[in-house]
Amino acid sequence: MPSPTTDSPSIRSCPACLSDDVVLYPPSRKTGRRVLGCRVCGLRAWAERSTYSHDMEDPAGALTFDYEGYVQAKREGAMEDAWDDALAMLAELLAGRPDLNLFDVGAGDGKFLDLARKNGFGVGGNELHAGAVELAKSRYDVDLLLGELPELALENAYDALTMWCVLAHVEDVDSLVDDCFKLLKPGGLMYLQTPRWTVVDRMALAALKGSSGRFTRIVDRRVAEHHWQLHTTRSMVALLERHGFRDVKAIPKARYSLKSSMYLNSLGMPAGIARPTGFAMDTAIKHGPVPRIVLDVFARKPE
Ligand SMILES: [Zn+2]
Repeated sequence: MPSPTTDSPSIRSCPACLSDDVVLYPPSRKTGRRVLGCRVCGLRAWAERSTYSHDMEDPAGALTFDYEGYVQAKREGAMEDAWDDALAMLAELLAGRPDLNLFDVGAGDGKFLDLARKNGFGVGGNELHAGAVELAKSRYDVDLLLGELPELALENAYDALTMWCVLAHVEDVDSLVDDCFKLLKPGGLMYLQTPRWTVVDRMALAALKGSSGRFTRIVDRRVAEHHWQLHTTRSMVALLERHGFRDVKAIPKARYSLKSSMYLNSLGMPAGIARPTGFAMDTAIKHGPVPRIVLDVFARKPE
């Protein structure tokens, strides 16, 4: 069983497959954060995620929240190709079901749902901020529900459910996955996109360990408040099957919301650190295939 520590609120078992066979890496000297790695399913997670609290949970802050700016930042970049691909795949996998409808969790300004509607889906979605609900209505005439999934009490209601980079943001992943399962009709499909553990992350974590926490640039950026779990295909299958989903397909994709050149530059390793790891990483970034940094995941609720 996980053994709670007296000095920190770190998780000590894998949040995806629940194994206790995990390793804690040395803390980043810059942020103090530690990464937990699961030896069974390969998940990497920020061990002290529970210490993080959102500004958005501050009621006074919520009143002055710049929702429009938030939406722009959240969906920056060319996501349209990914949206088209996901909608096409959902339509194919759900072929034969009448009057398909789709629910987008954390629907932002409703742009994706507008596209889904143009592709023949009946649409619904939720957001946590009244500003987003108003924006979706004014921009795309999309009606979003205000609130968290449990408050909305939508059971067996949708053929498809989508989550674009929501899973790795929430603290209680298990509750979210349960809520998604309930919302789907039997035989319905969930699609989600979430950050993936890559070869670059592996080398960066090795460098952090080898430098006793001094080389932290990549790890600090990749395992952070807004994506506290980096999944592998195996960890995603373990997580979703544990909640009743079947036919889980997790497909690695090279998809960058920033231009990939900007992103890779931002991950550049300082010279002279952690050879030969640094050399291998530089080579991988400069000459290798672009790391497939997200997982596209499809999973079915059994009939
Ligand atoms: Zn695991």
